[in-house]
Amino acid sequence: MIRTPEQYIESLRDGRIIYLNGEKIPDITKHPHMKGAINYRAKSYALANDPKWRDLITMEEENDRVMFLWKQPQTSKDLLRRRDLYIKCMKLGGIISGMGPDALAAAGVVAARMDKKLGTHYTDALEDYRTHLKRNDPAITGAITDVKGNRSIRPSAQEQHQDFYVRVVDRQKDGIIVRGAKMHISDTPGANEIIVSPCRAHREEDKDYAVVFATPLNAEGVKLFTSPRFYEETDEEALWNWPVSGFYGGISECMIVFDDVFVPWNRVFMCGEWQFSRDIAWTFGVFHRLFGTCHKVVFTEQAAGAAALIAEYNGIDKYPHIQEKLAWLAAHAEIINTMARAGCEHPDFFPDIGLAAPNLVYTNIAKFMFANDQFETSKIMCDIAGGLVSTVFSYKDWENPEEKPYIDKFLAGKSGIPTEDRLKVIRMIKDMSGHNHDNIAIHGEGSLAAQKMALYAGADWERYKAAAKRVCNIEGWKESKEFKDLSPWPPEPILK
Ligand SMILES: Cc1cc2nc3c(=O)[nH]c(=O)nc-3n(C[C@H](O)[C@H](O)[C@H](O)COP(=O)(O)OP(=O)(O)OC[C@H]3O[C@@H](n4cnc5c(N)ncnc54)[C@H](O)[C@@H]3O)c2cc1C
Repeated sequence: MIRTPEQYIESLRDGRIIYLNGEKIPDITKHPHMKGAINYRAKSYALANDPKWRDLITMEEENDRVMFLWKQPQTSKDLLRRRDLYIKCMKLGGIISGMGPDALAAAGVVAARMDKKLGTHYTDALEDYRTHLKRNDPAITGAITDVKGNRSIRPSAQEQHQDFYVRVVDRQKDGIIVRGAKMHISDTPGANEIIVSPCRAHREEDKDYAVVFATPLNAEGVKLFTSPRFYEETDEEALWNWPVSGFYGGISECMIVFDDVFVPWNRVFMCGEWQFSRDIAWTFGVFHRLFGTCHKVVFTEQAAGAAALIAEYNGIDKYPHIQEKLAWLAAHAEIINTMARAGCEHPDFFPDIGLAAPNLVYTNIAKFMFANDQFETSKIMCDIAGGLVSTVFSYKDWENPEEKPYIDKFLAGKSGIPTEDRLKVIRMIKDMSGHNHDNIAIHGEGSLAAQKMALYAGADWERYKAAAKRVCNIEGWKESKEFKDLSPWPPEPILK
């Protein structure tokens, strides 16, 4: 089934334990700071019910409509539709949060591998969970990042306590008991359920930390600590002051504590198979970086657009040094778009289990580029926009009749452009640079080092080395299947 936005909102009144700004929130649907995050998700339910978007967001199965994202990707077409769906929903103002579906897809790949290699039955549990998702249509998110304590020490060797990484503390007849905490988990207040997976490779001594499971967010022992929003304004003021972040209310991430939570076996998708922890972390990484690149397709378009608009409004759009900077922003947007799309067009296929994942190298290149170049993007936007990005006035100033005439007169730019439009674009650049987006771009979907590791491991070094050996006429280049049929280098000269 596909729920209506109203059914979705009602489902959030579920007795969950959630804190914000030092307060326990009895009903998040009534809290003013939660409204943006809930509306953002509710809009995706509205889109799924909208005849115009229904065929993209949902699929027909057994005479019922279900979310397309519950399907385990098997082909390039599946991945391209996944990408299209994420991008469209973001552009239409609804978030289908990638974390949950990405964790589901990663769990599907790894469960199939474990079952094949070890004779386990995790795919059955996942299928049971998928049936539940299709029948009840919950909003799900994904928790991978552990709080981690001392980063240089393995999970089971941590000194202060053993709970810096989520772990199994008891195995019972009907299920397991889990303890620990996950940090920075996006779109949590607006979610009903969560899939939890490890964030790193494990050794045998860490096997209790090799656990993947799903749980409702109102399960006994789950506690949510919401990161406060960075502004204090009302929603109306926030939309003017923070045109990008103000829309979703500035509320998204939670620390999720699992205080001895019971998980039944039909929601457990890995339990102790430490050899596969790395696999789940990397597979989630590549699926989730596909989602991240969708965000950035939207973001980089907006960044290039905001810089071009302010250049025009300030009357500097014809200067060569400005055009050069704008060209960099356009190239950046298109490279990320193209590279991320290529990751879906040329996916990694796993014929032994009949599944597919976004191309490890292309997807990591796209994510690495937008994260690594975020400061360049901010730098260019701020450079073009001028000092006003730091000193711009607020919505309340603009609305104050005593200040407004002066602001209107003295902060005008090129004639024909309303001062308010100029101020709005400046506020947008302020929101997209510096204090907020830089850190999200770099650490959302994993730190820069994570993409470099995946890139290094996935790159075709043998091909690269064969290419160099052939040029230098060093033995061994013919062992590469890409080069074996080519003639030695250089080719025979025609004119002797
Ligand atoms: C806005 C936002 C939203 C997010 N949403 C989600 C989400 O929905 N789900 C989720 O699971 N996670 C989410 N994350 C978490 C994100 O994936 C992590 O922030 C990221 O992986 C970095 O982890 P960390 O914050 O613990 O920093 P750290 O791991 O402490 O990293 C800081 C630095 O230390 C280095 N480092 C850490 N450990 C080692 C080591 N052993 N050896 C060498 N270097 C090391 C890192 O490379 C990095 O340079 C989100 C993060 C942000 C900022």
